[in-house]
Amino acid sequence: MSAAVLVTADEAWVDGWTGPATFALTPHGLELRREASASDRAKAAAHVPGVLLPGFTDHHVHLGLVDPAPLAGNGIARVVDLGFTTAEAAAARENGADGRGVEVEFAGAMLTALGGYPIDRPWAPPGWSREVANEADAASAISEMRTAGASRIKIALNSVAGPVWSDGLLGGVVRLAHAAGLRVVAHAEGQGQVARAVRAGADALAHAPFTERLDDDDLRSMSETCAWISTLDIHGWGERTAAFEIALDNVARFSALGGRVLYGTDMGNGPLPVGINRRELDALSDAGLAPGAVISALTHTPLARETRVSWIPGAIPTDRADLARWLGTASVVAVDRLEETFA
Ligand SMILES: [Zn+2]
Repeated sequence: MSAAVLVTADEAWVDGWTGPATFALTPHGLELRREASASDRAKAAAHVPGVLLPGFTDHHVHLGLVDPAPLAGNGIARVVDLGFTTAEAAAARENGADGRGVEVEFAGAMLTALGGYPIDRPWAPPGWSREVANEADAASAISEMRTAGASRIKIALNSVAGPVWSDGLLGGVVRLAHAAGLRVVAHAEGQGQVARAVRAGADALAHAPFTERLDDDDLRSMSETCAWISTLDIHGWGERTAAFEIALDNVARFSALGGRVLYGTDMGNGPLPVGINRRELDALSDAGLAPGAVISALTHTPLARETRVSWIPGAIPTDRADLARWLGTASVVAVDRLEETFA
């Protein structure tokens, strides 16, 4: 029986920091060998100088508005597209399926009310959204996106920009998506829309709520069912606006109450970096997320199941103020190239 190929690293993130780590390279990914001895480590085929983490994921991007080619070079291993034509999103996913470029998950076209957001937005050409007038419309749109490979359904509930569904139709859309095995991500904007989305069963919000301050009771109950994709930096891109402050305060309390925050930038929406956005990471730290919570927000899949991992050459910074800068130096390495890269 041939022994597994072993790879060591100075440090890794597997449900927390491991300290010096030894992994077996398996056909499925990296298997941590906690019991590895010094002699096992000496036999390793390669040593990764620095830190290995699951591939960094941006949970909210628009591939139709950016060139994804530089993403992997700029530290992003996986993106979740939350608004594009379904066919183009599926093609982008196909392009990323070779384990080399950025991995793509997608929602396909956004479902919205008749005449609802983002219909008629200059950045959202026809095909980026789908008007849904009843449950039959919803069922056919959801089935089409599921067939195309969507992992989620994005719904728009933006009462500032146009009409929104009734509670009855909203609940029906969410039920149909769940019945198809797809999670629901809601763009909720305007008074009361976050509460409506969460009550209807949305699994995630595409943006941390920025319309209004939510009270702690609401935050506590939504923390059990609904993750928030951060997108704090879209509010001013570094010039922090009133909406930024509302969203930051909501994220701080939501996170403190146990709510799950996911790193997402809305890449493509305004002047955002095509790669890791350090301002977004700084904002998460400013919202009180501990370094481990920031890393959890950035990662998506356990290290053991990743085909691409993030590698940071330097040691973990001791000063929290340096965390975003440090995370911003990550590169993406395919697991099946770890051995040749670091031999
Ligand atoms: Zn967006």
